[in-house]
Amino acid sequence: MNLGPNGLGAPDGSGGYDVAVAGFGPVGATAALTLARAGLRVVVLERETRPSEDPSESRASTFHPPTLEILDELGVAGRLHEVGLVSDTFQYRDRSEGVVAHFDLASIAGDTRFPYRLQSEQRNLVKIIEAELQALPNVTMATGAEVTAVKPGDDEVTLSAGPGTTVRARWVIAADGARSAIRQSLGIDFDGITYPEHFLVVSTTEDFASLIPGIATVNYISDPVEWLVLLKTPLHWRALFPIPPSEEAAATALRPEETQRRLQAIVPLPRPYEVAHSRIYRVHQRVADRFRAGRVLLAGDAAHINNPLGGMGMNSGIHDAAAAAEAILAAERGDAGPLERYEETRRAVAHDYVRVVTHRNWEILKEEDAGERARQHEHMSAVAADPARARDHLLRTSMLAEARRVNGEAG
Ligand SMILES: Cc1cc2nc3c(=O)[nH]c(=O)nc-3n(C[C@H](O)[C@H](O)[C@H](O)COP(=O)(O)OP(=O)(O)OC[C@H]3O[C@@H](n4cnc5c(N)ncnc54)[C@H](O)[C@@H]3O)c2cc1C
Repeated sequence: MNLGPNGLGAPDGSGGYDVAVAGFGPVGATAALTLARAGLRVVVLERETRPSEDPSESRASTFHPPTLEILDELGVAGRLHEVGLVSDTFQYRDRSEGVVAHFDLASIAGDTRFPYRLQSEQRNLVKIIEAELQALPNVTMATGAEVTAVKPGDDEVTLSAGPGTTVRARWVIAADGARSAIRQSLGIDFDGITYPEHFLVVSTTEDFASLIPGIATVNYISDPVEWLVLLKTPLHWRALFPIPPSEEAAATALRPEETQRRLQAIVPLPRPYEVAHSRIYRVHQRVADRFRAGRVLLAGDAAHINNPLGGMGMNSGIHDAAAAAEAILAAERGDAGPLERYEETRRAVAHDYVRVVTHRNWEILKEEDAGERARQHEHMSAVAADPARARDHLLRTSMLAEARRVNGEAG
């Protein structure tokens, strides 16, 4: 649907919506469905005319257990499983030494009904939720609607969404991604770092499970020269490599001979690897100074971005979406508590947990000092060998411990 020149009024003729969700990525989609299911009048404003079908745009593929619990409550986890791959083990490996530690998420079967990671492309979730929203009469999907500015008021917020087009809503969820126009319009700082190297993601149809016996479906492979992450998605194996921090290296990394060199260094083949697609990403660790300005709540990449090592960006964004929706629903019922806690709680998760854990993962993978590498390997293999420590590690890396802590539940 395209917006007309005179703004987008709610279907009841009041002119305003209960909630405007800016951005229809996995975070905005989750927020919109949660709020619409609760009966609020929701308008979704998405800049693109269609969700991306570009297979090389393969960012998040890992859904962690607490995220699956949220999506299950929304009734969409079943369909996500149909287009996903259950991944119940992961390994820390070393390029030259092989397996350092092997973890089996069966150890947390008593802690969650989803004791595994579900590997599925983030666009699958967006498509599943889009189909759900189409069946709800209280949702307006506006595509090709780029939010450019936000004007917060005491009782409602006005969004500019294209030339001469405004949308009014009592609440706004800004899920408009890392370059969030809403965050910028509100003048909220987004401090942090940009990693020196680019990250190259290559998807291949070759089956590493048959090339490397015993390999898990998710593998963090450390190396002082070129670490990598190797994981299986439903259709491909995907390798993530760091590209040295020079513009020239980034420019050449996508060349077929460079991609082949990197893949052949994992396991040499007598023929070229079949490459389905490849793409380069710039990676950052940034957290917004504020996650809320009155009736506007920031969620997902609009509020925080981090490196993908550990698969936590989209997951924590979906947790934001659930918390933001709950805060709005509680406020509508007259309970302002969750709204008042939203910023502090979600910002602490992004700043003190996701940012710290993912950055540490990067440091471990690329460690150059031989003594320190040996200590890390010894530590991880001791953790994996001790059932209680292994369970603690799995609760932390699966984001369950953090989700339970935030929700005030026992770990
Ligand atoms: C290589 C890589 C691998 C990753 N792997 C994982 C992983 O396995 N697990 C994980 O949890 N995370 C992962 N991430 C991070 C994850 O991709 C992001 O955290 C996630 O996409 C954030 O979702 P979002 O909905 O907040 O933002 P986005 O997915 O960026 O969606 C934002 C939406 O807003 C729209 N939009 C933007 N501006 C406007 C505007 N002004 N007006 C209206 N609409 C607008 C966009 O078109 C888009 O549809 C990975 C990232 C990278 C780079």
